Amino acid sequence: MYAKVITEITAKAVDKMFIYKIPKDMKKIKVGSRVKVPFGHQELEGFVLELTHEKEDYELKEITALVDEEPILTEEMLYLGKVLSEQLLCSRISIYQAMLPKALKASNKTEIKKKMDTYLVLNWNRTEVENYLEKCRFKRQKEILMKLLESGEYLITKQDSSIKTLVKNNICTLVQKEKYRYAFQTTKQDHRVTLNQEQQYAVNRVLSAKNQAKTFLLYGVTGAGKTEVYMNIIEGMLKINKTAIMLVPEISLTPQIVERFVLRFGRDVAILHSGLSEGEKYDEYRKITNGEVHIVVGARSAIFAPLKNIGVIIIDEEHSSTYKQDNHPRYHARDVAILRGKYHQAPVVLGSATPSLESMARAGRKVYDLLTLKTRAGKGKLPQVYIVNMKEEVKKKNFIFSELLSRKIEEKLLKKEQIILFLNRRGYSSISSCGDCGEVIKCPNCDISLTYHKSSNMLRCHYCGYATKKVSICPKCHSYNMKDFGLGTEKLEEELHHMYPNARIVRMDMDTTSKKGAHQKIIDDFGNGKYDILVGTQMIAKGLDFPKVTLVGVMNADASLNIPDFRSSERTFQLLCQVSGRAGRGEEKGEVIIQTYNNTHYSITLAKHHDYLSFYKEEMKIRKQLNYSPYYYIILIKISTKDYELSFREAKKVGEYLRSHLSKSTYVLGPAMANVFRIDNIYHQQCIIKYQHDANLKQVLLTLDNHYKGNSKVSLEIDINPNRL
Ligand code: ADP
Ligand code: ZN
Ligand code: ZN
Repeated sequence: MYAKVITEITAKAVDKMFIYKIPKDMKKIKVGSRVKVPFGHQELEGFVLELTHEKEDYELKEITALVDEEPILTEEMLYLGKVLSEQLLCSRISIYQAMLPKALKASNKTEIKKKMDTYLVLNWNRTEVENYLEKCRFKRQKEILMKLLESGEYLITKQDSSIKTLVKNNICTLVQKEKYRYAFQTTKQDHRVTLNQEQQYAVNRVLSAKNQAKTFLLYGVTGAGKTEVYMNIIEGMLKINKTAIMLVPEISLTPQIVERFVLRFGRDVAILHSGLSEGEKYDEYRKITNGEVHIVVGARSAIFAPLKNIGVIIIDEEHSSTYKQDNHPRYHARDVAILRGKYHQAPVVLGSATPSLESMARAGRKVYDLLTLKTRAGKGKLPQVYIVNMKEEVKKKNFIFSELLSRKIEEKLLKKEQIILFLNRRGYSSISSCGDCGEVIKCPNCDISLTYHKSSNMLRCHYCGYATKKVSICPKCHSYNMKDFGLGTEKLEEELHHMYPNARIVRMDMDTTSKKGAHQKIIDDFGNGKYDILVGTQMIAKGLDFPKVTLVGVMNADASLNIPDFRSSERTFQLLCQVSGRAGRGEEKGEVIIQTYNNTHYSITLAKHHDYLSFYKEEMKIRKQLNYSPYYYIILIKISTKDYELSFREAKKVGEYLRSHLSKSTYVLGPAMANVFRIDNIYHQQCIIKYQHDANLKQVLLTLDNHYKGNSKVSLEIDINPNRL
């Protein structure tokens, strides 16, 4: 027998399979098995994709080892890899690798082992032990035997002479058991609610589609009770012995939703997210392959969880950009979910308070079934939202806090209620520039200004990570008059301390949460009332549920609005709705203050009224006028090189090739320099393709992709349905 094997080395080049002879004694090898193979002078790991009797003419090398007892890639995973690699124009191996935790990827570097616990178990029966106990004089031996009689096994944390004696006298035996490193800890209680009519209807609709590959869009304001709907659907699926995948945007940011799942389903849940160590991920993954859990809760890559017999796949906050992988392979979890739904004949549920325009448009065309939750389910009411025009405030010298915001902060502090302030920029100030000549300190490697971080007294590049000591003399005119502009979370925190010296303030951004567990601690502390004010970046926008928060302030709603991208209005609207969803989740009414220089922009005025449907209509008009998604499909082609001149030449060639080979009804924009032209000394140019149907497209993209595969100077990347332009 022979095996066709795919290895990581082929990731860049074409997906070439290599054929190897299977040694006679390697009986357990199957399609999907991970193997070690000789490759040139080295030994590589790879996956078996085919078994065959065909013999090649030349002498074949033998597979050197079978790495695991059971195949790593299931039949379904093999199928998904094939389909996705064709859709995304990427190699199959890159998809297989993306599906797996590090411990199971085909790569020689990793050595992540199962952890074993040693237990003591009884060889004797109860009467024998009881007789022995009567005579036994050793305290420690007695203690162990009592425990064994009680629970059948005794976990050994340290070997001692009593254990040795018990084993030597054949009273007990040592056994090894697999140990799972990760366990979500919580002391809370699950509280069940009776679903309201809308919720029950949504649950029933999905459950009645239990054997159909149907996609539902569950649209409901924040707090409408979507999570309760998800849990009830899953419960229904478990009853008929099916399994479920529940995706959330990013678990480290939404620990509360995980907690709710663990409270309801206990040990039936495996959790997959980037905050776990590689060992922990491996263990969670094994719980799934060993069939010990029926529910997987996780972030994007959990969509590949190898559950069998899937009954439902749920994607919460379906509009979130985290569901699309921003690097190779650029898959979107929503598309994978729908593929898997078809494979298992299972419904997919997409949930959101602010569905992506693409999903809502599909619901409009009845491609998806729309389910709506109109009102908040719990006690909380939607908050009152105020828009503050910062142009007026600046005239009154209120640069950071508007009159209204500072008055409300004071009011809430007095009432001992909690406050969240949202500012989408970390660091102290965003620009460091000379007060005399206007020179701005920029990153030497990127076309971007450096951000001042006061706690470390450094200027940092948020693109490439470059850092340098703060500059106090202008490098150009040597003046000492260096000034900081722009507001970051660090400075906001400092200003708050000045203004409200008695307030207890905590900041959550990438700088305060780099250590493992730091996130959770801030969230727990704030939830337990240790702080009055939480200051943070988009990290705090998602999913947090604090009943005591009655005021949310958005310091600068324009930051996301001013990003030059066709989705910036949509993103701003989503963000504002989501952030305001943090207020008034408890008994007290919530208030939201949005500070902006664009106080009449529709994405801001409609967010004030939580009016998603009007926003949807308005934004769809604009997308239609400008021929953007969802009316047109978008493809982004990025051309990157270290050589400035070459970047222009090569981009021009790509643009011309696209224009001359694509259909006339397809638009090609560019080439143009990317938003940030130079990052880490690499120049980025881009072309944008907008199309509805184009019979030539696939071939054109393949040709381009192949053309640049072997090019060591210029790289070309194709991003289908890109997150941003
Ligand atoms: P969403 O996921 O839509 O933001 P949740 O499911 O988190 O909403 O529900 C918001 C709050 O309302 C939670 O505290 C939840 O326990 C409560 N809740 C949900 N459904 C009901 C219900 N039918 N009756 C009472 N409370 C409910
Ligand atoms: Zn100067
Ligand atoms: Zn940089």
